[in-house]
Amino acid sequence: MAGRHLARVSPGSFTIVGAGPVGALMALLLAGRGQRVRLLERRADPRDPRSDTPLARAISGRSINLALAARGIAALEQAGLMSRVAAHLVPMAGRLLHDGRGDLTFLRYGQRPQEVIYSISRELLNRLLIQAAAEHEAIDLQFCQRCVDVDVAAGVLQLRDEEQGSRRAESFQVLLGADGVGSAVREALVRRGLTRAHHELLAHDYKELMIPARRAAGALEAAHAPRAAYVFEPHALHIWPQGGHMLIALPNTDGSFTATLFLAREGEPSFGSLRDARAVRAFFQQRFADAAAVIPDLEAQFAAHPQGRLGTLHCERWHFEGRVALLGDAAHAIVPFHGQGLNCGFEDCRLLDALLASEPTAARTFEQFERQRRPDTAAIAAMALENYIEMRDGVRGAQFASRQALAAELERRFPGRFIPRYSMVMFHPEIPYAQAQRRGALQERVLDALGARHGFGPLPLESDPEVLRLLDEHGL
Ligand SMILES: Cc1cc2nc3c(=O)[nH]c(=O)nc-3n(C[C@H](O)[C@H](O)[C@H](O)COP(=O)(O)OP(=O)(O)OC[C@H]3O[C@@H](n4cnc5c(N)ncnc54)[C@H](O)[C@@H]3O)c2cc1C
Repeated sequence: MAGRHLARVSPGSFTIVGAGPVGALMALLLAGRGQRVRLLERRADPRDPRSDTPLARAISGRSINLALAARGIAALEQAGLMSRVAAHLVPMAGRLLHDGRGDLTFLRYGQRPQEVIYSISRELLNRLLIQAAAEHEAIDLQFCQRCVDVDVAAGVLQLRDEEQGSRRAESFQVLLGADGVGSAVREALVRRGLTRAHHELLAHDYKELMIPARRAAGALEAAHAPRAAYVFEPHALHIWPQGGHMLIALPNTDGSFTATLFLAREGEPSFGSLRDARAVRAFFQQRFADAAAVIPDLEAQFAAHPQGRLGTLHCERWHFEGRVALLGDAAHAIVPFHGQGLNCGFEDCRLLDALLASEPTAARTFEQFERQRRPDTAAIAAMALENYIEMRDGVRGAQFASRQALAAELERRFPGRFIPRYSMVMFHPEIPYAQAQRRGALQERVLDALGARHGFGPLPLESDPEVLRLLDEHGL
């Protein structure tokens, strides 16, 4: 893709606000097409190695481990970045359900060896992308630069230097807002009546807790910790489903796990009801005893770590003429229960990059981007909300595993015609989210019909014609 010019967008015309994972990846894709890009980030440079030690992450309580899946990987591959990222990934082959007292049930995600998802620290991934951006001569990367306002019509950006406390105005030709769920670029559009936005908050918050490795595992990033360093199975996403709430844990390369408690803000039980250290210990002991046993400083972590909000961002319009466009969480933040927020933001970058190369103007590019992307982002937002119920409650039901097994059998016997919805979302980037949602709903009806007739056990071989008829009937 190098050297291919973007039609009617003159080189040097892009400014990106936010060097989070989405902003940094977008800058690299544009630079790969011969564009010069100014990338502005409000935080200090995160490449200081001390900023991503498990200890630093534990102290800040912002470790956020991501599940990276096929959509995110496709975008990283397009930018030629997978070789930098691969060594820091821990594959997770399925969900490992904990009943809290030590009984475990493993539910595989896919059925092919490559159908796994990967755990990686968001901070580390961001740092790798920032390093790649810093090495690219076409990217002018500036830290401690907070965007405070955007005059879209005049093409002027107001920036505050977070170190000096000074303010300055800078002009821009095309501005991409990749500044996350609290986007200042989006807020500027809202203030000027160019769009409307509403953040629909979930009634449940989250809190992260570090589960330490069994023993000091040496330098993070040097290599994966030996298996023995992990207190739980390393190649799984651990879930303690409790109906109304849940704890999850994702592995880190250093032998530790990042656990996240998702719980109601108010009511019983809730973050509000866990008022002191005794209540916290008792709550964990009762519901997540095997996790509580491996977090010796549970009470201290619980008190020190922030309680984060979650929600779905609805933004009426993502672009204004050919001058400003929003992408990633700034345009469509979602709840994290399908592990797709970042994967979706990376997919935005791929599409925007392709459209910038094929459409005649930036204005047309942004129109096409929003037109094509909106049904998909709406679909993943809805599926992510549904997945919260499935993760914290549905997986415990007697029928869940057998229904999943029947779906896997149909996928094996009718390849291409039946693909479980989770697999479409996580392992099939060629299937847009909206199509996965639509096909998923039709497939549920096929499962219902087969389950009603044969139960959810193995399907008799002679049922092939019946299955084919059902698939035909549902247009699958
Ligand atoms: C608990 C939790 C778990 C998650 N798990 C997953 C998962 O498993 N898989 C997955 O795909 N996604 C997951 N996500 C979602 C994922 O973290 C986000 O979708 C992703 O970080 C969005 O990337 P972004 O670059 O758009 O925004 P951000 O990561 O928010 O980055 C925005 C950047 O812009 C900068 N910025 C903000 N304001 C300004 C300003 N005014 N001026 C200049 N710079 C600014 C910020 O400092 C930041 O660097 C999870 C989220 C949470 C909260």
